[in-house]
Amino acid sequence: MADPDGVRAEFRAFLAEQWDPDLTLAEWWDRLGTSGWAAPTWPEEWFGRGLGRDAVAIVADELRAAGAVGPPSGLGLLLAGPTILAHGTDEQKARYLKPIVTGQEGWCQLFSEPGAGSDLASLQTKAERDGDEWIVNGQKVWTSGGQAAELGMLLARTDPDAPKHKGITYFALPMEQPGVEVRPLREMTGRSLFSEVFFDDARVGDDAVIGGLNNGWIVANTTLANERAGLGSGGSGAGGGAFPGKKAGMLGVRVGDLAERTARSGVQPANFGRAFDTLRTIADKLGRLDDPSIRQRLAELYTLNELGRMTAMRVKASMAAGRGPGPEANTAKLMMSRICRMVRDLGPAILGPEAMLTGSDTTGGGVVQELTLFAPAPSIYGGSDEIQKNIIGERVLGLPKEPGPDKNTPFRELKVGTQTSA
Ligand SMILES: Cc1cc2nc3c(=O)[nH]c(=O)nc-3n(C[C@H](O)[C@H](O)[C@H](O)COP(=O)(O)OP(=O)(O)OC[C@H]3O[C@@H](n4cnc5c(N)ncnc54)[C@H](O)[C@@H]3O)c2cc1C
Repeated sequence: MADPDGVRAEFRAFLAEQWDPDLTLAEWWDRLGTSGWAAPTWPEEWFGRGLGRDAVAIVADELRAAGAVGPPSGLGLLLAGPTILAHGTDEQKARYLKPIVTGQEGWCQLFSEPGAGSDLASLQTKAERDGDEWIVNGQKVWTSGGQAAELGMLLARTDPDAPKHKGITYFALPMEQPGVEVRPLREMTGRSLFSEVFFDDARVGDDAVIGGLNNGWIVANTTLANERAGLGSGGSGAGGGAFPGKKAGMLGVRVGDLAERTARSGVQPANFGRAFDTLRTIADKLGRLDDPSIRQRLAELYTLNELGRMTAMRVKASMAAGRGPGPEANTAKLMMSRICRMVRDLGPAILGPEAMLTGSDTTGGGVVQELTLFAPAPSIYGGSDEIQKNIIGERVLGLPKEPGPDKNTPFRELKVGTQTSA
């Protein structure tokens, strides 16, 4: 990458000049996005700075140190942007990328269905051509941020006569239209982070096909590779949990207030990648750092976190070298699931009876409870732990593949519910 000290100095100078707690979130994200610092690894002609992946960590460090709000969170910057950069036309890049880096439009990922999760290629939502448009019918589930998104990365079947991996197309679907119904689901955290999404003659233009007709599986794999590479990465700055898009309703918020929310409790928003810092801070505040059992378990968490961080670096180095994420990505994913289970057990142990109180800043303002209740999720999304183990078994240990139908069988001839893993 470019000289890391030079990148740090340049971004620090940018922050000194441009960060202003009195800006609205929209104004701040406009400065960050149009200067290329929201997505420093993207090409310069498309709102990036053409820097290596290390620049992302440098930017996050400096944002935290300055108490500044990070780039837009959510799936636009993480998944849709890199996918459009890799497979979109110049017209599509011009249409979609700027609202992503400036947080003007939020995205959701419309992949999973009730009968297609681990076996994603069995998806049944269909899109049929109607002149210059496509008509979409079907259902998605587990759609993170679906209720607040303006656009969705939609996978739909466009050729049921092709084998299941081949007749899928990737669309950028406008969510605000009569044919799209988003029903929030309530999780055990008490939040509604994800939704079911129903399509009833929803419409999407032919110009919103990303990466070519019936080429959706290849395009989806770019999205999934970015998802796996992004899992377990740290937070992006104070208030990094701010959600982009007009529907999310945060663009008019004063950025200083967002940053202060994090600074007041002294802990990061719920984020497993930074859980060690969070738990250590709370244990310190509660005077529990002298407890040998807590110390031992914190040390164990720190060690695993460091191993996870280094494995994530290997994944990123492999991607930067154009090799794509190899088996390290599967190991990193399994390690993150283990870290989550450890955080789930250690957080309440540090809080003791106070784990039942969520309102106090001393105990993290509910962040431990949220991490604890959310802990099962990372072992499911981005490919469940069992799927990671299957991949390691087949591709690293050379074990035989699971039996399944011929990969040349047309989708229409497969029995619903019996399709096997992709
Ligand atoms: C917090 C969260 C957010 C999510 N956000 C999104 C989102 O924004 N967009 C989206 O499209 N999806 C999202 N997902 C969905 C996620 O990708 C799926 O839940 C995941 O792929 C698993 O699919 P499934 O739930 O259908 O379970 P299934 O695939 O039905 O699996 C059920 C169980 O069987 C196991 N299993 C399945 N196949 C095999 C096999 N071949 N060998 C061994 N075991 C197997 C699984 O490991 C699991 O334990 C999210 C999930 C979570 C938890």
